Amino acid sequence: AVPSAEQKDGRRRLIVLTGPTAVGKGTVEAQLRQDHPEVWVSVSATTRAPRPGEKDGVTYWFLSEEEFARRQAAGEFLETALVHGMSHYGTPLKPVLQHLAEGQPTILEIDLQGAHRVRQCAPSLGLEVVYVFLAPPTFDDLIIRLNERGTETAEERRKRLETAQLEMASQSEFDVTIVNDTVKQAASALWEIIAREYNL
Ligand code: 5GP
Repeated sequence: AVPSAEQKDGRRRLIVLTGPTAVGKGTVEAQLRQDHPEVWVSVSATTRAPRPGEKDGVTYWFLSEEEFARRQAAGEFLETALVHGMSHYGTPLKPVLQHLAEGQPTILEIDLQGAHRVRQCAPSLGLEVVYVFLAPPTFDDLIIRLNERGTETAEERRKRLETAQLEMASQSEFDVTIVNDTVKQAASALWEIIAREYNL
């Protein structure tokens, strides 16, 4: 069921885009950004190394483990997660609250652990959230995508597939599912949800 338009007090709801590893959340988010520059997508912090072409403050805030831990202890993150048992990721809280207060369409693209954490802490922050689950057309598509990406070793891919299998099982816990048939179509389905939430 698609939730109705606004929060009770007129504030718009935060959109959380989540889904299993390698489903293409980042690609769909990039397409949405290109089609609708008025959407603000949260810039996460991460302890992983930048990939070629990634810019600090644009793709991610690239932090050392020490700096990440310091900010986490200072309560600067809305949620954090250790992704694939390797790197920490976190959503800086302040910019999210600022953009929501300004009424700008605000979206997080985070993994499922992060989405579960947001669900736990949203009530205490007075946040209402729409959770969007991005699903692959079939599980085989996910396997193909992981293999095509070619950024992981065989052992890493095996672990991620195991994780993805578990992650697919939590689909029903989220408000809306978008099937990632094509990037264009998924981004436009996501935009429809945002437009409805923000009366655009
Ligand atoms: P990548 O390192 O490939 O950019 O992202 C790896 C995973 O981390 C993706 O599933 C992505 O959605 C997730 N991710 C990115 N930023 C955050 C964040 O701030 N919090 C959480 N929980 N996951 C994140």
